[in-house]
Amino acid sequence: MNSDKNYKKVSHVVLTSHTNQVYKEVFPIHWGASDPMQRGPIIATISDKSHRNAIGTHSGSYTVYRALSIAAGHFPVDHKADLANTEATNPIGPYDSWKDPEKIVSLDPWGAMINEHFLDLIRSGIDIRPTIAVTQARLHIPEIREAIDAGRLPIDGKIVSQAKDIKTTKVAIEPVWYLPGIAKRFGLSEGDLRKILFQETGGMFPELVTRPDLKILLPPIGSTTAYIFGDLKDLADPSVELTCRVHDECNGSDVFGSDICTCRPYLTHGIEDAARTAQKGGVGLVVYFRKEGRALGEVTKFLVYNARKRQKGGDSAATYFMRTECVAGVEDARFQELMPDVLHYFGVKKIHNLHSMSNMKYDAIVNSGIEVVNRISIPEDLVPADAQVEIEAKKAAGYFTQGEVKKDKKLEKVKGRKLDE
Ligand SMILES: [Zn+2]
Repeated sequence: MNSDKNYKKVSHVVLTSHTNQVYKEVFPIHWGASDPMQRGPIIATISDKSHRNAIGTHSGSYTVYRALSIAAGHFPVDHKADLANTEATNPIGPYDSWKDPEKIVSLDPWGAMINEHFLDLIRSGIDIRPTIAVTQARLHIPEIREAIDAGRLPIDGKIVSQAKDIKTTKVAIEPVWYLPGIAKRFGLSEGDLRKILFQETGGMFPELVTRPDLKILLPPIGSTTAYIFGDLKDLADPSVELTCRVHDECNGSDVFGSDICTCRPYLTHGIEDAARTAQKGGVGLVVYFRKEGRALGEVTKFLVYNARKRQKGGDSAATYFMRTECVAGVEDARFQELMPDVLHYFGVKKIHNLHSMSNMKYDAIVNSGIEVVNRISIPEDLVPADAQVEIEAKKAAGYFTQGEVKKDKKLEKVKGRKLDE
């Protein structure tokens, strides 16, 4: 450890929340302005605090790891990013939705075009970073390989390759919150929102309450990733068939194949259908949100699993939501109100096939002005045995389904495995 040598700043700490340290905003933000220069770049650099017009720093939750790396002497304190050749592989927008200060409030639609719009400022020494990156990839997924082998996804050399993988454009999006817009979305005053965010994070960002002039927060939360199959530009064309899955992270199922829920089968089914739509001349979109365990986290989630399986009578669809609420305080902390922002970023106006049974997601999308034609529930044969409890409980609670909704005695009979089985 040689942190003293590398981290010279450690000797004195500048509190930007101090009244004598309130800087006149060099680059004011006019959220929703149609011209990116007029809107203003988001500047969250810590190398020159006087340039900052945002609270928080880049990289979401990883900002803490970066700090640790600097503390350990592994990371140069004054590193300036060399952004040569990092430009997006596919252009996105601008769309009308970018110019509406209320349509998008949780990401920066100009965040992938830093080099195009703010190059002069960057050259003059302002540390402006992209908050969105766009690249291309091929996906190797066992379930997709099965779909190809079964003839459900033909090899066409365009979407599905000879190697049985699928081509995709992927877009990583960091959260950039416009606080007045977030407050309005939740029906709060901006002051109340700032105060609660400050208090409930243990006072992490004092500027939330001391710097009302700073309207942007880069919250230390997970990012969002969009996977597009077909031509990205078609997402904004309502006449092109769009198949879409909006998926909230579930590490246990998505990555490890844990069978207590339907997350991975629903995700891979969504990817398969999105790719198939692209093969038919449409476009597919799968959006992955880092909102593990209904945004309650994995520790809470595993506690709930135990509480469900140890309760009197065992794990039952009839008591599924109640057990979550007992442990977590709420059934669900995901608040889908911010989710449609990413759809508006891509200019989506109409979703022909929405892969989701969640009414919260459906309502949020429709209330944000996007038309939904068909809702697609997970096919029965893809539901793992132990996930019957979850799926039947959700259907009974009003989640969308084309199938039967079990009630009362029938619902009570839907049981999960015991803990040690
Ligand atoms: Zn899950």
